[in-house]
Amino acid sequence: MALYNFNELYQVAQARHFKAVGSFNLHCLEMLPAFFNAAQQTNSPLMIQISTGTAQYLGYRLLVDSVCSLAESQNVPTCLHLDHCSDIAAIQTAIDAGFSSVMYDGSHLSLDENIKNTRAVVELARPRNISVEGELGAIGGSEDGKAVAEEHITFTTVEDAKRFVDETGVDMLAVSIGTVHGLYTGKAQIQHQRLAEISEVARVPLVLHGGTGVSDEDMRKAVTEGINKVNVGTEMNVQWVGQCKSAFEKGKVNDSVRKFLIPANDAVTQVLMEKIALFK
Ligand SMILES: [Zn+2]
Repeated sequence: MALYNFNELYQVAQARHFKAVGSFNLHCLEMLPAFFNAAQQTNSPLMIQISTGTAQYLGYRLLVDSVCSLAESQNVPTCLHLDHCSDIAAIQTAIDAGFSSVMYDGSHLSLDENIKNTRAVVELARPRNISVEGELGAIGGSEDGKAVAEEHITFTTVEDAKRFVDETGVDMLAVSIGTVHGLYTGKAQIQHQRLAEISEVARVPLVLHGGTGVSDEDMRKAVTEGINKVNVGTEMNVQWVGQCKSAFEKGKVNDSVRKFLIPANDAVTQVLMEKIALFK
């Protein structure tokens, strides 16, 4: 089965009465069947996103081949997306390997430079039918070793969002509206007014990063205000590591390692199913 780009996947999601698509960070290959289990049990299409760190760890081709194989055998419409990438050469590698969606993150650059580079990525991707996500504003917290301190958080403005989308032609836009990357212990405060205003002028699906710290109520509201892609990463990682820690601690060294990983994978499936339920 060919992979879907974001636009194609979102159409499937809408036809199945979802308002948004969850995009789930894969950290290791072991987690992959757990993702497909959750998609099957919820009749949801699946978006899997890969950090550049994970892509280097597993290899682009192994990821594409594994995801394609499961998408076909499990009959799940699937999009494979490269998350937060500031390196155009790495984006080219992902495109050549068969990823169906990429994110260029130029949020640390000036608006002009961000527009210029993002447009260059759109020009690389569009002829290959690959969707492109851009980012505007600086989302706080840390992800894959890159950190944005609280004093450097900048929220996306309505004006910039309009110009950015018009001039780059991105398929979807990541916005900084109050969420934070990583394990967020407090309650993220989504700026609903800002979100609604950006959505009105941007006219492309908006992306919520740092979905872990958002309350269920806030999430349900955000997906009615223009958020059509929700990134979830930390929550699966926390569950997986937590389950593994206790299983490894209790186990014996000659137990099959499988015995330790199955509960961790089941916990990941559970997290995905709970998140997907919020997008209906
Ligand atoms: Zn992110």
